[in-house]
Amino acid sequence: MIQLYIPLNFLGVLYREIKQSLTDLDKMFVLMERDREVADRPGAKPLSPQGDWAVRFDDVTFAYDPARIILHNVSFEIPAGKTVAVVGPSGSGKSTLARLLYRFYDVGVAGSGGIESGRITIAGEDIREVTQASVRQAIGIVPQDTVLFNDTVEYNIAYGKPGASREEVEEAAKAAHIHDFIESTPKGYQTMVGERGLKLSGGEKQRVAIARTLLKNPLILIFDEATSALDSANERAIQAEIKSVAQNKTTLVIAHRLSTVADAHQILVMDAGRIVERGTHAELLARGGRYADMWRLQQQSEQV
Ligand code: ATP
Repeated sequence: MIQLYIPLNFLGVLYREIKQSLTDLDKMFVLMERDREVADRPGAKPLSPQGDWAVRFDDVTFAYDPARIILHNVSFEIPAGKTVAVVGPSGSGKSTLARLLYRFYDVGVAGSGGIESGRITIAGEDIREVTQASVRQAIGIVPQDTVLFNDTVEYNIAYGKPGASREEVEEAAKAAHIHDFIESTPKGYQTMVGERGLKLSGGEKQRVAIARTLLKNPLILIFDEATSALDSANERAIQAEIKSVAQNKTTLVIAHRLSTVADAHQILVMDAGRIVERGTHAELLARGGRYADMWRLQQQSEQV
């Protein structure tokens, strides 16, 4: 019996391994398929600049992998020129909202297993129906962790507006409070940055991203606040810059610190892919729910 058990057991292990590899392969194809699917529809037109530049998520359900739904029936509106902030625990789906708005992924494409639904509109137009390039042209992103090109600081800022003059680059750098730092480096605006160049701190990289976004001057902004702790003076300075850049722009802020969001037009509290509370800072505090708890906890930790 034992003689039979060993080969059978071995076959069992082998079978499970093959099955797992096939599942992984399957997942990989689903992901590859999805990447290919973020493509423009034949004859797609650019986003037309008519109407006001409101952003709407209408009942959006989304999954990176059909086995796990990440956003469940998410609906909200950012009125033109206003700021909506999203808060919630790590992994609740905040950055996914930003990725969908920027069309890194399309909702409801083939390969999603038919579980996705809903739509995202900019100025009333479904973003899947217009060209991806025009959607990205309309949006400026300051990501959590800015990756700089292996090129000069000037190139990295000017990237926001191809053909920008040196004066325009400097003006944007001044507004983002990075000009003096750049001037203090030996080669000034010609200093090489990125992996192979001068290493910038998280705050400096974020300022380069802000300068780039200022130069681009988009109608819609996405700020994915850095999770890495900046010192509080740096953090306050960056928040002030973000606030001035966001003025009169339709803005989505993914916030990790509640102090950033207190004056947002609306705050969305997310948990496990659902919006569980929404309102202004004052409304949410008065409600005494999740947001109020988060606020209290953060106040306490700041006092420590
Ligand atoms: P954090 O505050 O930590 O940045 P978050 O709320 O922004 O988190 P998301 O980045 O939106 O969370 O991620 C939501 C969930 O989706 C997480 O569980 C994450 O593991 C998963 N996820 C994110 N990106 C992908 C991806 N490309 N493929 C598969 N799953 C992903």
